[in-house]
Amino acid sequence: MRQRSAIRPSAIRLSALVALACSLIGATLPAAAQERVLNLYSARHYQTDEALYANFTKATGIRINRVDADDAGIVTRLKSEGSASPADVILLVDAARLWRAEADGLFQPVKSAVLESRVPTTLRGRDSGQGSEWFGMSTRARVIVYNKRSVKKDDVDTYEELADPKNKGKVCTRSGSHPYNLSLFGSVMEHLGPQATEAWLQGVVANMARQPVGGDTEQIKAVASGECQIALTNTYYLARMMRSERPDDRAVVEKIAMVFPNQQSWGTHVNIAGAAVAKYAKHRDAAVNFLEYLASDQAQAYFADGNNEWPAVKDVRIANPALDAMGPFKAETIPVSVVGMNQSKVQQILDRVGFK
Ligand code: FE
Repeated sequence: MRQRSAIRPSAIRLSALVALACSLIGATLPAAAQERVLNLYSARHYQTDEALYANFTKATGIRINRVDADDAGIVTRLKSEGSASPADVILLVDAARLWRAEADGLFQPVKSAVLESRVPTTLRGRDSGQGSEWFGMSTRARVIVYNKRSVKKDDVDTYEELADPKNKGKVCTRSGSHPYNLSLFGSVMEHLGPQATEAWLQGVVANMARQPVGGDTEQIKAVASGECQIALTNTYYLARMMRSERPDDRAVVEKIAMVFPNQQSWGTHVNIAGAAVAKYAKHRDAAVNFLEYLASDQAQAYFADGNNEWPAVKDVRIANPALDAMGPFKAETIPVSVVGMNQSKVQQILDRVGFK
């Protein structure tokens, strides 16, 4: 009896200790668990991404939960989730989309010495003093492809010439309202001004071989088949086709050539794939960490290579036979944030000139 009564109090003390310990662990565990997870909403899905994310987890212990969707799907989802959104990091392609998402209040500013030193100012969202809301992680150029047999390079080596009457009935494009075109046209507007841009877009519409339909790859194929002679494409679609071993792709590549437009003037339009920290990120530190990781030499190479793009960070070298074959070029220097910002005005012009 004595023994029992002697044991009891200590058993009680022990269980109280366990309870206290549990409550302490309970208080600290969720916080610790939070730091070990990162929710990523990504519009990019390439094979190299696996290595990209695995290396981050290896270096930091932070596990990445991925939600894959296309750009529009991610934006819709973020909007409907609101402040309850589990998203920490968002990857979107094209400055037009990134700027729009920023304007819709889906991101938050990030101040990071690493990102500021690694990502060029022209490839980031505008810094209102609290940091940029998005950061370019890879670049692509919007170039002109043409039918080698029916078109001379001299006739298509500027964007302006897409509207020249000499190219009547030869041009095909994807929808004018697609972000890739909104950005390009927003860039042209920055260089030519709104009035000249409207006249230019009117000329492009007048030169169309057909109504806008399909993506960039369809335009390249239409140029090869002779349905049209001149088209716009992002470099990675062309590079993908150049690296393809499929006989039909090879046949297409045989028939076409590409040119980096405006090498004698403002340079070829360059756009980005970019990353942002979500407005309601529950793991903000991990999210900033991940963005900084994406800007590291190793991650830059993976990120660019996965989609035949160039690294956003200067001096990171990649070996991509298709991009190397395209050669070096002069890129425009206006900030992509400005390009993104012009999209509303561009859309109004497109509506007026009937560019579907
Ligand atoms: Fe694309």
